[in-house]
Amino acid sequence: MKIACVNCGQTYPDLGVPYKCSNCGGLYDYVEPLAVGEANRSVSLGEGNTPLLSAKVLGREVYFKCEYLNPSGSFKDRGTSSLIFFLISRGVTKAIEDSSGNAGASFAAYAARAGIKARVYIPESASGPKRKQIEAYGAEMVSVPGPRSKASEAVIQAAESGMIYASHAYLPFNLPGYATCAYEIYEQLGRNPGAVVVPAGQGGFLLGMARGFESLLRTDKIQKMPMMVGVQANACAPLHALWKNGTMNDVVESPTIAEGVRTRWPVRAEAVVEITRRSGGRFVAVDEAFILSGRDALARLGFYVEPTSALVWHALEESISNLPDPVVVVLTGSGLKYLS
Ligand SMILES: [Zn+2]
Repeated sequence: MKIACVNCGQTYPDLGVPYKCSNCGGLYDYVEPLAVGEANRSVSLGEGNTPLLSAKVLGREVYFKCEYLNPSGSFKDRGTSSLIFFLISRGVTKAIEDSSGNAGASFAAYAARAGIKARVYIPESASGPKRKQIEAYGAEMVSVPGPRSKASEAVIQAAESGMIYASHAYLPFNLPGYATCAYEIYEQLGRNPGAVVVPAGQGGFLLGMARGFESLLRTDKIQKMPMMVGVQANACAPLHALWKNGTMNDVVESPTIAEGVRTRWPVRAEAVVEITRRSGGRFVAVDEAFILSGRDALARLGFYVEPTSALVWHALEESISNLPDPVVVVLTGSGLKYLS
């Protein structure tokens, strides 16, 4: 599938792994719609095919897509599998990545599987279990003091000095992997979901799934796009701000226990908000006070997820009356990754 710069149209080169356009610094993305079908899983740890379980909550039958049961404990594995396959096709033997934890752990796992030497830059605040996990897979870990954005700055500096930056945010290769989650939801439900509720930091998972649903729509498998509902922590909610106010400039980045969605400048923000709008969906920003109680409410149903994933509970409480059936809630990361 053709990949080009969204800004100047320059085609992704046949050699190397530039994380942004060498001509104008723009983002690379797929030019054509994604094809419905399996993502390439030649580098696999058994990601995907996660359970879709229903539960009666808030007076409704709600479906929970258990993405926290992926091999490294989060949905990221779907995208990392596709990303690593691309790196191998380009002969990459060493690569760097930055992450608040889950993407780093996933990257370290698949790099180990593929024999790629990985270095992961993470914010000092990232939770202990995620750090341990990254190191256990054999990746070199660089802990960066300050907010999440400092880890991004550090990795970009290393990329500028010639390292391969296998960015899950800048590179588009994980999006077809995320689209497979949409295909699975459709197959498991046996029909069109009415709404899909999912946490969003960069918003890549939301974007990849929404494109997956668009592909199902294009091939007449479904008749209507599900309403995509992106959930952020109020402490750092740029996608919510862009959706609501048309700008991310006034957003303040505050600490949050939902560390996985603490992203001040989502690189595909415009695309994420645009596809959400087109689906008839919305963004919800959840106050810090509701996160752990959401985690506990989900655990009472048997779903043990990390605080970032638990954002969906309050979003569901707030918006379920406006969501058409069947409602699917995506549980993104394992509770075992968070100690508190
Ligand atoms: Zn360009």
